[in-house]
Amino acid sequence: MCAKASKIRVVKGMVDIMPETAKLWHEVEATAERIFGTYGYGEIRTPIVERLELFRRGVGENTSVVQKEMYSFVDQGDESLALRPEGTASVVRAHIDTGAYVSNPVARYYYSGPMFRRERPQKGRQRQFYQIGCELLGVDNPVADAEVIAMVTHFFEEVGVSGLTTEINSIGCSGCRPDFNAALIDHLNSCKSELCDDCLKRLDKNPMRILDCKYESCRKAVESAPSFPDYWCEECSDHFTKLCEALDLMEIKYTKNHKIVRGLDYYNRTAFEITTQNLGAQNAVAAGGRYDGLVKELGGPDIPGIGFALGVERLILLLQASGREGKSDDVIFFAAIGENARNAVLPIIQALRKDGIRVEWDYAAKSLKAQMRRADKLGAGSVVIVGDDEISKGMAVVRNMRSKEQSEVKLRDLPMHFV
Ligand SMILES: [Zn+2]
Ligand SMILES: [Zn+2]
Repeated sequence: MCAKASKIRVVKGMVDIMPETAKLWHEVEATAERIFGTYGYGEIRTPIVERLELFRRGVGENTSVVQKEMYSFVDQGDESLALRPEGTASVVRAHIDTGAYVSNPVARYYYSGPMFRRERPQKGRQRQFYQIGCELLGVDNPVADAEVIAMVTHFFEEVGVSGLTTEINSIGCSGCRPDFNAALIDHLNSCKSELCDDCLKRLDKNPMRILDCKYESCRKAVESAPSFPDYWCEECSDHFTKLCEALDLMEIKYTKNHKIVRGLDYYNRTAFEITTQNLGAQNAVAAGGRYDGLVKELGGPDIPGIGFALGVERLILLLQASGREGKSDDVIFFAAIGENARNAVLPIIQALRKDGIRVEWDYAAKSLKAQMRRADKLGAGSVVIVGDDEISKGMAVVRNMRSKEQSEVKLRDLPMHFV
């Protein structure tokens, strides 16, 4: 006797998406393609593996993503590589690397795919997770910011998620943010004892991030903190006003929340989040903002950019919570009883599938009762019943599973009947 081989489990924090759920994913992805397409965005597919250096520079050496969460490794050729932890840096790299910025001074990209961060797994947060995102490169006009926000809200409406809130802010620019940061550090030093360990570390390197810490005591500490609008320079103030005006013109509902910041180093001015109350603490379903310094930081020309990313797992959870399942294709089930019947229907099934019709059947040609049960489970719209009697007449019984009506159709007419 040989011992039973041990089972190989999926890697922690990674999840198999099975066919029933994948249908919903397809719907989400197809909606993204359709909606983003109407705003002029084309899909970009960048590699999952990039040089480690890209994320060090593009995401920021001081971020917890780069310091603690990246899957990085040295390959057999001694190159330091990493699995991408987010999409923006790769898209910007490709825009520079391919020289696309020369022919397309204004470029609109969207992407969809897996990202990798070694975080503590929890509901809606995995180590391999999927993001759909957009990047608009080459425009600094605030109307473009408004259009990006309009596009995200349009996408969520179209995909069928309701009860979302759009919150916007401006985190200033390299001209005015140093003053804001200094005032913020001053304030936080006066209530240091209330800050969590993470925020204490952020105090010097990235004080802005303390503003959106979820810890109760940190939230208290920042209640009376300096507020961005008091520190905006004239250009930043003007940019934010025009963003709001454009959103109003497009009738996009939003609230101003001056505690919204972005976690990555390269953001400036517009920052926004789309949030839901329906997922507990994990309440952001999409987030984005402007990153005017990034293209230059990655060795490209000095061109501005704005974008966003949304977490697909959380979106799927929201859709499932609202009772949505993936659309089922209309299935035709062939219930062939006996070997003769099975041989008679095989070429017909093949013809139907070539016409793009989804057909399922039971190779074992079990009892009619068992086959009807299976058809029911599949949600088949029609069942074609063929036994020895039917073969001798050259006919099949077609049962409409919704209306329960039955009719006889000639075997050779079946492909025509369903097309
Ligand atoms: Zn400014
Ligand atoms: Zn904190």
